[in-house]
Order: sequence, then C-alpha cells, then structure tokens
Amino acid sequence: MIAIDGTAGSGKGTLAISLSKKLNFDHLDTGLLYRIYAFESIKEGGKKQPTKINFNKWLRNNKKLDCLRSEKISKLASEISQSVDVRKLLLSYQRNFANNPPKGKGSIIDGRDIGTIIIPNAEVKLFIDADVKIRAYRRNKQLKLGSSDYYNTVKNIKKRDTQDSERNISPLTPAVDSFKIDTSQINETQVLEIALKYIRNRIDFI
Ligand code: C5P
Repeated sequence: MIAIDGTAGSGKGTLAISLSKKLNFDHLDTGLLYRIYAFESIKEGGKKQPTKINFNKWLRNNKKLDCLRSEKISKLASEISQSVDVRKLLLSYQRNFANNPPKGKGSIIDGRDIGTIIIPNAEVKLFIDADVKIRAYRRNKQLKLGSSDYYNTVKNIKKRDTQDSERNISPLTPAVDSFKIDTSQINETQVLEIALKYIRNRIDFI
C-alpha cells in the first residue's frame, strides 16, 4: 500500500496516477469521494443521505467526474470533510479499497489523511507540497481559467489549506514517517523519479 497526502494543487494526484501506471497498482483519489458527496448534496438540496451514494458507479464514469472539479464543489467538499459522520462513512470505503485493490497487485491512495488515519500501516507514505503561488498557477491551468482569476485561486487555495489543516478531525498533516517531496521547482517526471527511487528501496517486489 502506498499512501500519498498533500496540499491542493501540489501534484499528488498526478504523481499517484503516474505511479499507478508504472507499478500497475490500483489508484483511489479520495478527494473525489468528498467531491461526489458534495455534488450529491447540492443535487438533493442538502438532504441526501450519505449511505445512498453509489461511489463505485461514480468512479467508473470518467467523463462525469470532470464536473466535480469546479471551485464551488472544491469549496463544499472542503466544508463537508469536516463532518465526523462523512469521514466515518468514507473511511471504510477507502480502507476496503486499499486492502483489496481490484487488480490485486497493490494500492495507491491519495488524499489528506491517508498515511495518518486511513492506512497508517502503509509500506510507503509520501507527503507532497509546493509553494502556494505555484499551486494556484497549476490549478488555474488545469481549470483553464484566465490570468484574471489567478489571485482568486490563490485566495481559495489558502482558505482550503487552512480549513484542511486546522480542522479537529483528521487534519492535513504529514505522517511522522512520511517522505516529503516539494514539487515547486521540479517537473512531473522528476517527482516521479524521486518517488520511485524511494519506493523501490522500501517495497521489495517492485
Ligand atoms: O484532493 P481534492 O482537492 O480533490 O479534495 C477535495 C477536498 O476534500 C479537500 O480540500 C479536503 O477538504 C477533502 N479531503 C479530505 N480528506 C481526503 C481527501 C480530500 O478531507 N482524504
């Protein structure tokens, strides 16, 4: 099991996808679970019972997932992620995926509390971060926003960072035994190389 945690826009998702392809491990982006929850809540006027959400069905539909990346959903996902009930509901889904990955070779889970709460027994724990201005630039590019939106994006990311790291339950914090990578000055290929080197020293069969 490989746990990847990090701040918004740090490149943890990109790294997780590249690693899963390289190692043929199954990948779960846990931020999507919070985003799906947020989307379903809006659709149901805030009354949707969490147990009625079919996460498997959502995750199979790649095209539909694009609608979860908006700023509105990001904000709501960060808000609802502070709820004990929501976290409890999503915990078993995440642990189950980590321990029983569909292809059976291994799992890569990325999020905010993966190495600390979800799978503290993971063989590898990575913590990814980058300067907030660089993260905002990347997020703007990903969402195809104009340069006039840049300062707004910086503001939103800072707010989300604060909310995620200062909440009482499962705050975003590096696991003590995590390997930290700052992606501010390096590209995706370099991040992947650094991570792979570290992983190969820790998991024998790779
Ligand atoms: O990673 P992503 O930006 O898609 O996550 C959206 C939001 O979901 C985060 O800002 C965070 O509040 C929440 N989240 C979380 N724990 C996770 C993954 C995401 O609280 N493991």
